[in-house]
Amino acid sequence: MKTLVLPPDERALAYAKELIAAGEVVAFHTETVYGLGADARIDAAVKKIFALKGRPADNPLIAHVHPDYDISALVEAPPYTAALRKAFLPGPLTMVYPSKGKVSPFVSAGLATLSLRVPSSPTAQAFLRAVDLPVAAPSANRSKHVSPVTAQHVLDDFDGDIPLILDGGPSRGGIESTVLDCTGSVPQILRAGLVTREMIASVAGDCGVYHMRAGEKPKSPGMAYKHYAPGCRTAYFSADALGDAVRCYAREEGAGGAPCFLAEHAVCERLGGYRTLDLGETPAAMAENLYARLREGERAASLLIGIAPTVRGGVMDGVMNRFLRAFGQNADAGEEL
Ligand code: AMP
Ligand code: MG
Repeated sequence: MKTLVLPPDERALAYAKELIAAGEVVAFHTETVYGLGADARIDAAVKKIFALKGRPADNPLIAHVHPDYDISALVEAPPYTAALRKAFLPGPLTMVYPSKGKVSPFVSAGLATLSLRVPSSPTAQAFLRAVDLPVAAPSANRSKHVSPVTAQHVLDDFDGDIPLILDGGPSRGGIESTVLDCTGSVPQILRAGLVTREMIASVAGDCGVYHMRAGEKPKSPGMAYKHYAPGCRTAYFSADALGDAVRCYAREEGAGGAPCFLAEHAVCERLGGYRTLDLGETPAAMAENLYARLREGERAASLLIGIAPTVRGGVMDGVMNRFLRAFGQNADAGEEL
């Protein structure tokens, strides 16, 4: 099949609506990463997403709706969640609620909960308004691969396999939404993201962070999976082991390979003369750049050498979690293992 990449104009939105009504999938821009969406009410459509991605069936999907969609038709929202929606939606916060069972059971992978997100991306909103139904959508990458932040990244993984990509330009948020469990009396972060614990606590009064204990069934099944892996070999060093990292680089080059460092800006400056991919300086810049640089790295390098960023605060919990997992390091707890 031919994969069309179109801006979200009237013609493209009409085609997207037609595809979704026919139980097809449509990839679309969001402010976090690109999504791969289908009608959340149709079993076969939802299963198509899992099949295309090669996603394990026990890893639930997020249902996306437009800002005026009446979520009370889908979930039981505890009273304290109203203030969170008001403060952060539309935006990069996914909220997990007790489900009313109105969408396909495959969306929630058998769980009694449903996660909902209201994206702020104008492209995503135009699409969601055009279809006016809950769209189940994970990130539009092959399972385990680096998440896509441009339409080209989606093409790289799915060219010829999906009919349409709604191109809204680069996803500036750069990492996936924060996943917040809102089924208990205090909200709890299941996956760190662009909306931080501090931001949530400032509105809800309190906010927990879920830490998976060894041997426990994860509360957010996606936490159990390997993720964000570039398609080349990787090595990982902390910023205080730069000497070892440089020796690793030299060994790879000596063996005829093409090594490349992936590091924060200050470290790239110290590595002048070597091939580097610069993550940037601030937490927000690193979130925006991480997946794009990982995808550049896998194309250009035989060995991508990650140097752990030292900047902290802001969205760095979410960035570090993805960075460590991309380099095969076990991210710590509340984070996805
Ligand atoms: P992705 O769409 O690829 O960004 O992955 C969605 C993430 O949200 C995964 O980590 C899922 O495990 C998590 N998730 C989705 N729905 C639920 C739910 N109902 N309960 C807990 N976690 C969820
Ligand atoms: Mg994903």
